[in-house]
Amino acid sequence: MDSKEFRKNAHDIIDWIADYMDGVRDYPVRSQVAPGEVRAKLPDTPPEEAESFDQLMADFKDTILPGVTHWQHPRFFAYFPANVMPESQLAEMLISAMGINAMLWETSPAATELEEAMMDWLKDILDLPRAWDGVIQDTASSATFCAVLAARERATGWKVNETGLQHAPMMAFYTSAEAHSSLEKAVKMAGLGRTSIRLVPTDLDHAMQPAALAAMMEEDRKAGIIPAMVMATVGSTSVGAADPLKAIGVIARANKAYFHVDAAWAGSAMMCPEFRYLLDGVEGADSFVFNPHKWMGVQFDCTAHFVRDRDTLVRTLTILPAYLETREGSRVKDYRDWGVQLGRRMRALKLWFVIRLRGIEGLRTMFRNHVAWTLDLAAKIRETDGFELVTGPNLSLLTFRVLRQGMDKEEQDALTEKLLAKVNDDGFTYLTRTLVNGRPVIRFQVGQVQTTKEDVMDAWGRVAELSEGL
Ligand SMILES: *Cc1c(COP(=O)(O)O)cnc(C)c1O
Repeated sequence: MDSKEFRKNAHDIIDWIADYMDGVRDYPVRSQVAPGEVRAKLPDTPPEEAESFDQLMADFKDTILPGVTHWQHPRFFAYFPANVMPESQLAEMLISAMGINAMLWETSPAATELEEAMMDWLKDILDLPRAWDGVIQDTASSATFCAVLAARERATGWKVNETGLQHAPMMAFYTSAEAHSSLEKAVKMAGLGRTSIRLVPTDLDHAMQPAALAAMMEEDRKAGIIPAMVMATVGSTSVGAADPLKAIGVIARANKAYFHVDAAWAGSAMMCPEFRYLLDGVEGADSFVFNPHKWMGVQFDCTAHFVRDRDTLVRTLTILPAYLETREGSRVKDYRDWGVQLGRRMRALKLWFVIRLRGIEGLRTMFRNHVAWTLDLAAKIRETDGFELVTGPNLSLLTFRVLRQGMDKEEQDALTEKLLAKVNDDGFTYLTRTLVNGRPVIRFQVGQVQTTKEDVMDAWGRVAELSEGL
């Protein structure tokens, strides 16, 4: 494809994208295809001869689009958002065109230095300690994996890196049952085994109980097990619970445990001063992660990972084969030593575009709207017969279930599950489930960039309507 042809095709694609942005609400939110339906439409073998762009685009519309769940739909209230602001898309186009690998300072000085600057901006916006360093990871799961590795190495004086786990003392990793599964995955990947995880009990608000944490650490230490790390959550995936960071930090420090804070979803909203109290005590953490690629509108992937002491992280992950040596050496940051990947995309440009073109105040307005509309929704649920608000709202996340007089719990739970399936088959809106105290509930999370208050209320209206014929 020469540049002339590229220009024409690219213009077609831009037109399609702009139309998609305008028309996305006309699609069912969750894809309605059955398993195997998309695959069956795809040829078993690739073409020997080049095909036309027009044919390919036609197949994209016929074959691929029906199998797409529309995360950018304004009535997407499932999971957490994976927002794509138009500003971010523009940056992503430039990133994709340059195809930079930002593994070393030298392989694109602007990528590294913009990343440093954006991490400093985020520290400023979220009121994080100025002395911290930041890096953009692909996902929060990666950041948490890095935290587990750093904790493992710090607890063993960097010996596991040298001689492996067969010579290492036993270690324990603490979090609550509300924590994201990425901690369990990280601990398993780090070779430490699931049995080294301790689930600290939570209180009625699903937040970790610091006294229980202290007791568990004490017990482990008496048994000769090193408390290596505590992971606290602000904005848990299930119900949006927030652990008390200050108290947990004090206990972590007293036990010399690495303290990691996961605010993957809620972190973005912390730029609003009225919500920032949820991060009180974060200054005591060793690392902190949040995902601009969730609520903030910087499209996937873009995870902001901050560390108190960069040497702990870099010493854990550093490698220096001869073919990666550059003459700048330690005078510059080589972000390849800050994460799992060697090759890295230039992701900072997306932050730069979104922050500059929206402004922090513009972003704050979005978070405030989402939270306010969720409060309105909660009021509506409370006054609607046949439903019970179960948790929240915590920021813009609440859970509810079906409540019917004269029915036992099992029957009500079955109705809740049935309602959710009906809602998602209907396609008007998209919600997901979780368990609260062992019972199924439906999550409602308001966070899509294009969502309006009407979208929230219309979606609720449809849920209530669909519940009638259960
Ligand atoms: C979404 C989420 C994660 C995982 O995020 P990825 O970037 O997909 O790895 C971790 N923790 C919490 C609290 C989350 O909400």
